[in-house]
Amino acid sequence: MTDKKPDLKGRLALVTGASRGIGYFLAKELAACGAHVVAVARTVGGLEELDDEIKAAGGEATLVPLDLTDMAGIDRIGGAIHERWGKLDIMVANAGILGVIAPLGHVEAKVFEKVMNINVTGTWRLIRTVDPLLRASDAGRAIVMSSGAAHSARAFWGPYAASKAAVEAMARSWADETKNMPLRVNSVNPGATRTAMRAQAMPGEDPETLPHPSEVAAKILPLASPELTETGLIFDVKKNHFTRYQMPQ
Ligand code: NDP
Repeated sequence: MTDKKPDLKGRLALVTGASRGIGYFLAKELAACGAHVVAVARTVGGLEELDDEIKAAGGEATLVPLDLTDMAGIDRIGGAIHERWGKLDIMVANAGILGVIAPLGHVEAKVFEKVMNINVTGTWRLIRTVDPLLRASDAGRAIVMSSGAAHSARAFWGPYAASKAAVEAMARSWADETKNMPLRVNSVNPGATRTAMRAQAMPGEDPETLPHPSEVAAKILPLASPELTETGLIFDVKKNHFTRYQMPQ
């Protein structure tokens, strides 16, 4: 992918999980390119830090402190954006949780349900509320954060892997539904990144060996560009290109 920063002046971007990690830095990048960022997460301190950084660089943000298990709250996002802006140009469905690394037979029901609720149902609920707004944009862009776990399906990663396989399937269906309109929908595999989630999954790993989330965010940024043509694919950050789906063989 090109390293050229897209011109996002006058564009509106919604980013979930913007209080830290990959979402934080992607929100910052989008704002630096001119987008007004609607930043969603629970941690007000993280959102305010982001807001300070964006404003100090001359950008604009609107903060939405929200727990993404609050499904009615997610529904209200679409209504609020519709009232104020009438459209949405960029959606980054990035918020997610790992749950637990454990054999499937040892996973507690409440943990499994929480992973599915936030990663899958919350993402679908977000898609549902912003779909008409992204269609109203002249170049709607949807970025759905997945993981290599969706495909590697490694031992002990079951709930998380299942949730990411589900969000990719939704993104592909949505891309197919919208392929004849300007809206472009893609999933992203960011690869192992130096964040709190990665530290939870791999506590013995030296975080300094992993790319910083700001580096990963910079690679994802071009997917928000009005010039993007691809849809229904998965962008592999480490390879820095889109990869195609194929049926199992
Ligand atoms: P972090 O744990 O650093 O950040 C997760 C973000 O999601 C936070 O902003 C958090 O905000 C938000 N979030 C979590 N739960 C909720 C909730 N209930 N309501 C609202 N927001 C919530 O994760 P990463 O930055 O590492 O991960 C970002 C995405 O990238 C995830 O989808 C993850 O699965 C994916 N990914 C990450 C990899 C990695 O190595 N880091 C590898 C592959 C994929 P708050 O707590 O303030 O609510």
